[in-house]
Amino acid sequence: MKTVNQHFINGRFVDSHGRDTVDVHNPATGELIGRSTRGDEVDTERAIAAAKAAFPAWSATTLEERKEYLQRIADTLTERMDELIATTIAEYGAPVSFAGYIDRQARDFFLLAQDVLKPENFEEKHGNATITKVPVGVAGLLTPWNGNPWFIAGKTASALAAGCTVVIKPSELSTLQAQILMECFEQADLPPGVINVVNGPGTVVGNTITRSPDVQKISFTGSTKVGKQINHDATETMKRVTLELGGKSPTIILDDANMNKAIGFALTAGLLNTGQACIAGTRILVPESRLEEAKTAIKAGIQALTIGDPQAPDTVIQPMVSQGHYDRVQSYIRTGIEEGAEILVGGEGKPEGYEAGNYVKPTVFVGVTNDMTIAQEEIFGPVLSVITYRDDEEAIAIANDVEYGLHAYVYGEDQQRARAVANRILAGRVMINEIVDDPTSPFGGFKMSGFGREFGIHGLNAYLETRTVFAN
Ligand code: NAD
Repeated sequence: MKTVNQHFINGRFVDSHGRDTVDVHNPATGELIGRSTRGDEVDTERAIAAAKAAFPAWSATTLEERKEYLQRIADTLTERMDELIATTIAEYGAPVSFAGYIDRQARDFFLLAQDVLKPENFEEKHGNATITKVPVGVAGLLTPWNGNPWFIAGKTASALAAGCTVVIKPSELSTLQAQILMECFEQADLPPGVINVVNGPGTVVGNTITRSPDVQKISFTGSTKVGKQINHDATETMKRVTLELGGKSPTIILDDANMNKAIGFALTAGLLNTGQACIAGTRILVPESRLEEAKTAIKAGIQALTIGDPQAPDTVIQPMVSQGHYDRVQSYIRTGIEEGAEILVGGEGKPEGYEAGNYVKPTVFVGVTNDMTIAQEEIFGPVLSVITYRDDEEAIAIANDVEYGLHAYVYGEDQQRARAVANRILAGRVMINEIVDDPTSPFGGFKMSGFGREFGIHGLNAYLETRTVFAN
């Protein structure tokens, strides 16, 4: 059993001032695997003070020096990679393939951030004006549990590259993974105070960061509900804010699609990370005339999925991260039934043989109308809704008739038509016929999915202010 009772502040591990503890359970087995101590306002204020003190010197480092430090972090992560992956599987329940992806990508963010460290990204001429990009200040980075190393790394790499110092608050459900990252940060030996990490509750540690006058930037990934609160709290001190929030993404299957392939694509998009993904395509839009074909393909596709031990290489369906999240997903399945949707496959309860873990049966509803709760709200589990449409216009209208706008998927034979449909979807990213992983193209949402963009040069710019100097 692991114990996490220190925070990483001013370049070293320090005992937590906050005394509350919380147990960590393996979501696949229920086994107690760790205990962590939650930080409080005092711990957070210490971290903010360290980041503030470190900012003048760090913001004055050269691009070459920052590249060197980013490389050092990447190297330490490479050394600890196997342990990080094992911890991600044990604490979060992510299958080995997905945990490997999250954690290697976390390392790669520190490599990719070096590519944007080019002088032209920090200064340009415009007539008599010299436009310079300067780091915004201390950045507060708040992350969710569904890939915590990935989110911490993506934000930290961009912030450090920009010349900001950071205070990181990892998810409460990810402290064992965060501990390994903290040890990597310590080993990378950056100047004290450049990176600080405080574990603890969002309402205490997160809140102290979002309200602090000494923090100039917040980058938050999490739910829309909390994102609204953070945006509200950050206004008083006029912080720059990036919000990466929830989603309820559509997958539009066009009527010229090969239905077996299209459903394979839709189930992959919908069950990404067992539905615990902001970008999951949880509303499958099927042409009314081809519903029966789609139902047959869905049943076969779901039956072929391997549920089980996250350690096994072929596992696709993992447990929900916590008992509380399991209960929440179950309540949505009940709501779907109560509102009159029909279960095509799956349903309430745990799959047979997996009673010890927080496993949910992969569940697909048909007979769903777009106004139902299960079609509008983010469930964040393996629960998909099939909604029928009559023509492309109606498909686009249904796809956009939701408060979120993070992601969308389109599947069809005619590329030009698929692209025309994609161009009318109100979402930050749309994928046609393939699910791609591109951590250099902009990522972020429309509407209630948040604002601002991460990754690549867009991610860097989120931590920079623009100063224009005029001189003859
Ligand atoms: P959450 O909103 O409950 O928590 C996210 C983080 O915010 C946690 O670290 C939490 O402790 C902290 N927090 C909570 N209350 C706070 C407050 N008042 N002030 C400051 N910080 C506070 O989200 P979660 O359950 O951890 O993650 C799942 C959610 O994240 C889903 O809605 C999902 O869609 C979203 N998400 C979005 C993206 C994206 O890129 N758009 C990616 C992954 C997850």
